[in-house]
Amino acid sequence: MAPPSEHATTIAARLEGAVALDLAVTATSDVAAGIRELTLAGDLAGFSPWPGQDVMVSVPPRDAAARWRRYTVRRIEPASSTITLWVTVDTDGPGGIWASAASVGDRVDAVGPRGKIALDESAAAHLFVVDAAGVAAMCVMAEALSAPSLVATVVVMPAAASYEHSAAIAPKCAEDVIVRHHVLQEDDEAWREKVLDATVKLLEEEPVAAYVFGELAFTRTVVAGLPARGIEASRIAAKPYWREDRANESNGEPPREDAAESE
Ligand SMILES: Cc1cc2nc3c(=O)[nH]c(=O)nc-3n(C[C@H](O)[C@H](O)[C@H](O)COP(=O)(O)OP(=O)(O)OC[C@H]3O[C@@H](n4cnc5c(N)ncnc54)[C@H](O)[C@@H]3O)c2cc1C
Repeated sequence: MAPPSEHATTIAARLEGAVALDLAVTATSDVAAGIRELTLAGDLAGFSPWPGQDVMVSVPPRDAAARWRRYTVRRIEPASSTITLWVTVDTDGPGGIWASAASVGDRVDAVGPRGKIALDESAAAHLFVVDAAGVAAMCVMAEALSAPSLVATVVVMPAAASYEHSAAIAPKCAEDVIVRHHVLQEDDEAWREKVLDATVKLLEEEPVAAYVFGELAFTRTVVAGLPARGIEASRIAAKPYWREDRANESNGEPPREDAAESE
């Protein structure tokens, strides 16, 4: 394993709790239409993300025009010193292009862990509303729940993703966690609102924590509707991951000059 680059080391030094990593691709596969799984190995000393935290990768690798792109750590395997990412590849940006073409042996600079949102351990029910980019965060967070609890998901996938992929993007939760998994094929807002209404009404356990991850306008709309459905604002965690028709900034954040966001 090579030491991390100076570029990654400099960035990591500015970010609290983050370390620089030199990662090599060890496996790739398809999770569902538009989502590619990448397994990356490296020296993970000092890299201990909690469920839902992410890693920034510098793409295209070793390119003067590289930009940071953030991906949630879907899995971490200390025994093999590997992490797994689920990356959406239906974009024409450097992150999607990198993940589509990635093959075993490719290396990439990375920095992490990043991210502030964590599971609300005091909630009895957990509602995840995500698009394809948020599926990894939803799965890793829901799978970390050990106490008896209820998980409800509303996942909005691109039309190309077929229902046969629903199981592949469902969290594999502990035995005493009940999972109600809903996958919608298109971002039809009216239909999504109906599904959300019905899903929240059936959450008989209280209190409910909600987590919303995905496109910026989607995130804003979903968050705005949750308090009226009885979910306390203090129990809603949201993070915009990308923005329709706009590339993310070079630091990996979606541009949000006109948006007030929670994290
Ligand atoms: C904290 C955090 C965690 C994230 N975790 C994940 C993750 O686990 N998996 C994941 O796939 N993404 C995740 N993202 C989102 C990912 O970093 C962005 O989607 C990123 O912009 C993709 O980069 P890109 O270079 O491919 O596209 P960009 O250069 O950002 O954008 C190029 C074009 O693609 C469009 N685009 C960007 N993302 C998508 C998308 N998901 N679907 C459709 N069109 C898109 C843009 O609107 C733009 O038109 C996360 C983002 C953040 C901030």
